[in-house]
Amino acid sequence: PVDWQGMNITVAGLGVSGVSAARALAGLGASVTVVDGGSSDAHRERAAALEEHGITVRLADAETLPEGTDLVVTSPGWKPGGPLFLAAAEAGVDVVGDVEIAWRLRGPDAAPWLAVTGTNGKTTTTQMLASILVAAGLRTAAVGNIGTPIIDIVQEGDTAYDVLAVELSSYQLHWAPSLRAHSAAVLNLAPDHLDWHGSMEAYAADKGRIYEGNRIACVYNAADKATEDLVRAADVEEGCRAVGFTLGTPGPSQLGVVEGILVDRAFVEHRHKQAQELAEVADVDPPAPHNIANALAAAALARAFGVPAAAVRDGLRAFRPDAHRIQHVADVDGVTYIDDSKATNTHAAEASLAAYGSIVWIAGGLAKGATFDELVARSAERLRGVVLFGADRALIREALARHAPEVPVVDLDRTDTGAMSAAVREAARLARAGDTVLMAPACASMDMFTNYNQRGDMFAEAVRELGAASA
Ligand code: ADP
Repeated sequence: PVDWQGMNITVAGLGVSGVSAARALAGLGASVTVVDGGSSDAHRERAAALEEHGITVRLADAETLPEGTDLVVTSPGWKPGGPLFLAAAEAGVDVVGDVEIAWRLRGPDAAPWLAVTGTNGKTTTTQMLASILVAAGLRTAAVGNIGTPIIDIVQEGDTAYDVLAVELSSYQLHWAPSLRAHSAAVLNLAPDHLDWHGSMEAYAADKGRIYEGNRIACVYNAADKATEDLVRAADVEEGCRAVGFTLGTPGPSQLGVVEGILVDRAFVEHRHKQAQELAEVADVDPPAPHNIANALAAAALARAFGVPAAAVRDGLRAFRPDAHRIQHVADVDGVTYIDDSKATNTHAAEASLAAYGSIVWIAGGLAKGATFDELVARSAERLRGVVLFGADRALIREALARHAPEVPVVDLDRTDTGAMSAAVREAARLARAGDTVLMAPACASMDMFTNYNQRGDMFAEAVRELGAASA
């Protein structure tokens, strides 16, 4: 156990995880300073609330390291190469994230962590996993990159939970060197956040940290060799197994699908000898291929924790996806409108483009260093038309010109929030009865919207207006 008493801790960022870390560490007797580059009224209000707890807050300067800092606790969005971290490195001061703090705060009898990462499907899989664990009668929570800050959950005490379903972003893994999960899954690996990590290799290495020290199972995607390579590279506890998941027939030590049934050949009870049936494909919502993969990963982690097959089925049946993830909005004039605002990178957009036939695609936003050639080339034949908006739309327009020159493209040439309703009207013009209008932008939203939630809400609003006008 760490003695926090009298430690000088600098917390970078006045967001949800920063505030949670600052309060927890101050509560343990550390002397805490929070630094943040902002200075808006909202910042001042949050600062005042922390100062009441004896925490020092420095606004309008996120760059200089406070004198005497022993440890920096950073927030997810902060890039590793930033000035504050360079100053910390120069001063020989460790930098860690909220997940590392949560890990260090656990007592000897704390609930084990079943951890999930990947480029896409993290939240969905973590929530499926929590649903399965609940169905098994276990006390659990879906935490990490979602829900209540993980430090707050850990501070409820060692006996509050039996097991935690922990979603971890590549940022959080980067800053969590001593994390040791019971079992962990990397769902898939595709280029994303390369501007933050610097390279695909660095991004993959950060994701791979989730397997370090696993005790029971390292769950990988048998269709994504990069995830298997990360298992090989990891240093795990003796007896820890590599467990694959596949949409095809499972090999030994894999979970897979046989004639519409999710089947487990890795964690088989003796009386079943070869394979254990877990659930039907139709039990998974939505039953799209990428989501069956998520269900298999969640099932693998639950099974590694000893959850019986029936609880896997019940948990998957009880699960409903969050908003803005391939969400059906409405049908207008025979055209189906789908909100996949959460498709903030090309890999996610590709999964949803693959799930429909004839598509009018609404796309664009912040590319975060991505390229669009592969996505466009693989999806070209399903595109009826494309409507583009957002800061990096030219990258998509150019890829379309290269790989789908015959597909009609409407470039709205706009980066304002109001462009969404124009986009929906243009999409409706391009669509024919039986088509799907799919808002899966393959980009982050922050150039035009507050976040992907607002982007999805604006889409739904625009579709409602369209429906009202056509009625
Ligand atoms: P994350 O938490 O990793 O961002 P979500 O579960 O919120 O993942 O889903 C993000 C986006 O990725 C959604 O658009 C969803 O439709 C898509 N998606 C979900 N699972 C997968 C998967 N296994 N492979 C590819 N795309 C996926």
